Amino acid sequence: MRIGVPKEIKTHEYRVGLTPFAVREYVAHGHEVMIEKGAGTGIGASDAEYQRAGARIVDSAAEIFATAEMIVKVKEPQAAEWAQLREGQILFTYLHLAPDPGQANGLLESGVTAVAYETVTDDRGALPLLAPMSEVAGRLSIEAAGDALKRHSGGRGLLLGGVPGVRPARVVVLGGGVVGTHAARMAVGLGAEVTVIDRFIPRLRELDELFGGRVRTRVSTIDAVESEIADADAVIGAVLIAGASAPRLVTRAMLSLMKPGAVVVDVAIDQGGCFETSHATTHADPTYVVDNIVHYCVANMPGAVPLTSSFALNNATLPYGLALADGGVEAIRRNPGLAAGLNLHRGTVFNQAVGASLNLPW
Ligand code: NAD
Repeated sequence: MRIGVPKEIKTHEYRVGLTPFAVREYVAHGHEVMIEKGAGTGIGASDAEYQRAGARIVDSAAEIFATAEMIVKVKEPQAAEWAQLREGQILFTYLHLAPDPGQANGLLESGVTAVAYETVTDDRGALPLLAPMSEVAGRLSIEAAGDALKRHSGGRGLLLGGVPGVRPARVVVLGGGVVGTHAARMAVGLGAEVTVIDRFIPRLRELDELFGGRVRTRVSTIDAVESEIADADAVIGAVLIAGASAPRLVTRAMLSLMKPGAVVVDVAIDQGGCFETSHATTHADPTYVVDNIVHYCVANMPGAVPLTSSFALNNATLPYGLALADGGVEAIRRNPGLAAGLNLHRGTVFNQAVGASLNLPW
């Protein structure tokens, strides 16, 4: 199959759909790979490196959209991109169609077969192409908290790990899923005191085992949240109820219980956030202060580390992308994980959640 990778055009998006190591695998499977000139610049992968991996460098995205049978990207296509897609072509990327009727209509009109990373499932029904970005965001959240705690950022002026003789920071993680576990791991590694709050007791048992007692666990109740955040120097928001808006666990009134200069990092901001006072921020201006509490609410945290993120994403997407390239649309029929990823095909919605949120038949 002829695979095409255009350079991402969304503002401040530096990740790339295929890294050179992934290109090598596609080429080894007998596929032809076209990479738009400069597509790997954001991760330090030169055109020469892609050529060594077996790719052909092409000058324009237009050539890729016109000739590729499958387009591999990172972010949802922008208007200029979806106008160039067509029936018979496979699009493999993050789509997040539910809140985006403009894109959904554009892609439906194009007739493209769109497989969305975020709805592809594995054997256990988990979301393997979403998990790597949660791992990145979870780990980054502690770096963000450490930065925001510094005095010049408006924070309490506290080092996460403390030093011998001085107590470390107290970090509370709301939600012990993928983001929460990776946040806890980083915070423990730096020497902070860590508490994870989750509503699901079996998950708390797993975390207790995993961290060998280095992390305190608490069941999510209003009391537990209030008492833990009152003592916290940094609170990480990492809750998720799949398909729904994030539960608002921390109200504005509760912020008054916290120490002035404490920090909240709301990773769940992409689902609306779990602090009442959260609103989405950007990497260019990541924090703001409400009631003396520093808020970090960047909605696309993995974009800050495109190199790590592109490699993590490619590690996860590779087997699914190869299956699509090897088998074409037939592969979607054979592979239940890819079938779950199929959002649109020849002008029809194929995903129930997407159809329901956009009020479209599926
Ligand atoms: P996950 O499903 O692995 O974990 C969510 C956890 O929240 C689960 O353990 C669940 O039991 C827990 N939970 C749900 N309701 C709760 C409640 N009321 N109290 C306590 N815990 C509760 O999800 P994840 O992959 O860790 O993602 C977490 C959030 O981070 C999602 O909103 C995701 O979209 C977001 N995210 C954001 C970025 C970013 O750049 N901002 C990047 C990746 C992921």
